[in-house]
Amino acid sequence: MSVKENLAMIQENIENTCARIGRNPAEVQIIAVTKYVSIERAKEALQAGITHLGENRDDGFLRKYEAIGNEATWHFIGTLQSRKVKNIIHHVDYIHSLDRLSLAKEIEKRANKVVKCFVQVNVSGEQSKHGIAPEDVLPFIEQLAQFSRIQIIGLMTMAPYTDDEATIRRCFRTLRELKEKVQSLHMAHAPCRELSMGMSNDYVIAIEEGATFIRLGTSLVGHDN
Ligand SMILES: *Cc1c(COP(=O)(O)O)cnc(C)c1O
Repeated sequence: MSVKENLAMIQENIENTCARIGRNPAEVQIIAVTKYVSIERAKEALQAGITHLGENRDDGFLRKYEAIGNEATWHFIGTLQSRKVKNIIHHVDYIHSLDRLSLAKEIEKRANKVVKCFVQVNVSGEQSKHGIAPEDVLPFIEQLAQFSRIQIIGLMTMAPYTDDEATIRRCFRTLRELKEKVQSLHMAHAPCRELSMGMSNDYVIAIEEGATFIRLGTSLVGHDN
């Protein structure tokens, strides 16, 4: 399937979901996750009208960035090692995986402008998942006030890998409640209005629970090999 055909189907799902629950579909930003596909396929996504691209490794990010440049808005969505920050920091618009103070320090040191960041939360508590525990989110964000180049625009999570809709929904709902708590504190460095949640298999549930950025790989651009 072409990206254009996939996108049409996804947009219809987004519109139907939003109509059902009374949300404005314009609040839901699609990020095309291109980590599984070629530069050509990423360019096809741009041609289909996608403007936001996401990658999860620094080398993959740089390969796509070098080919595409500032035509796209760039999201770094994967675990970020501190020593890799300098490679991507001047090209990235959003970082979705801020999960520790040492990483915040490195971003602060390397960036030359304010970087929009999501704090990644491990809502489900699965060992395999990165992110900080829900109870640590607020103290962590309070500590970030010292950094002038980090703005916490929201929270990000990955739902557990399961078919059980109730489990997925509970995860997204917990993230939303946590986001609302942080947002209500009106911290200058942490407006925390956004929710980065929902992937190919669970984005409809994520939208129902308030997602403002959904990260779509397989269902949108596909998966090579
Ligand atoms: C790969 C990845 C995605 C996209 O996954 P799909 O299931 O292919 O849509 C979204 N978010 C993160 C953090 C990822 O690593």
